[in-house]
Amino acid sequence: MSENSKIEWTDHTFNPWEGCQKVGPGCDHCYAETRNARFGGGVAVNWGPGAPRRRTSPANWRKPLAWNANHDAFFGEHGRRQRVFCASLADVFDNAVDPAWRADLFHLIEQTPNLDWLLLTKRIGNADRMIREARISLVGSTRLVVPEVLPNVWLGATIVNQAEADRDIPKLLAVPAHVRFLSMEPLLGPVDLGVIDIDGHSEIYPLKGTAGCEDVEGNAAPDLPAIDWVIVGGESGPGARPMSPDWARSLRDQCRRAGVPFLLKQWGEFVPYEHDAQPPFLTSQHGDFFDGHGLPDFESGESCGDWHRDETCRLLARRVGKKAAGRLLDGVQHDGFPGEAA
Ligand code: SF4
Repeated sequence: MSENSKIEWTDHTFNPWEGCQKVGPGCDHCYAETRNARFGGGVAVNWGPGAPRRRTSPANWRKPLAWNANHDAFFGEHGRRQRVFCASLADVFDNAVDPAWRADLFHLIEQTPNLDWLLLTKRIGNADRMIREARISLVGSTRLVVPEVLPNVWLGATIVNQAEADRDIPKLLAVPAHVRFLSMEPLLGPVDLGVIDIDGHSEIYPLKGTAGCEDVEGNAAPDLPAIDWVIVGGESGPGARPMSPDWARSLRDQCRRAGVPFLLKQWGEFVPYEHDAQPPFLTSQHGDFFDGHGLPDFESGESCGDWHRDETCRLLARRVGKKAAGRLLDGVQHDGFPGEAA
């Protein structure tokens, strides 16, 4: 699927700079921080408050121009535009980044109209202001108040649990954007995308939009669009936490009912019990098992060795590694994309 990236939903990965700071539970096992430390002699020199961010080389910044120029050949082979995931080793809307770098990035995005830029952030609350600032800087005029929507930007928010969904989805939907998407990876709990109460009076419906809706007092609700795409994935790497198949199934079904494209990126390190090629022999629906594999007893919500139980003590998943765990859900590979049938 990918030209220059191992990530399932993109063709290229471009990092305009490197470095960041952890902002939530989805950052607990940040791959990029570990990588930064590996190249920094054991210290993540570009991570945390006060740490300098490192701008990548001019040669790296020229790559998107080459991808853009290759549009006809790519389109001829794949029948679609190229996707660029921007900032796998950073966050585009990080407060600690020099605003001039971000202005340069948006200039590059405008110079590459044949590419769809996927800007995925854990700081969606900064996005509207920083996009305006970058584009104001670009045109050199403070009179530009409302940013023109860039047709080749897909704006995404990382959501790992219900609290983040309630807090950040209204912010995502309020930013002018051509495509808005959720990356729910690592998914750490069940998430209901059906309705979000934003102020005790008004509700929004992330998968349906709110055009024409009323609040509890009969007043017009905020007019917000719907989410265009949902990506779900489990965690990989050291310290990975298992993703319950129930959480993934629920999101698949919510998206299907709403007609929103759904993509299951990966299970991560753990394969769900139901998909395990070598499951232990369960003797009851509550997870009591015949100890034919020498499994020790352990508590609900805990891991033991390669095994993990969910909160109801049901045997949930086994650590087999990302590649072996794969990306099938109930035997189906879900590869929905915006503009395609869900
Ligand atoms: S926002 Fe992304 S890059 Fe930054 S610390 Fe969190 S996971 Fe790592």
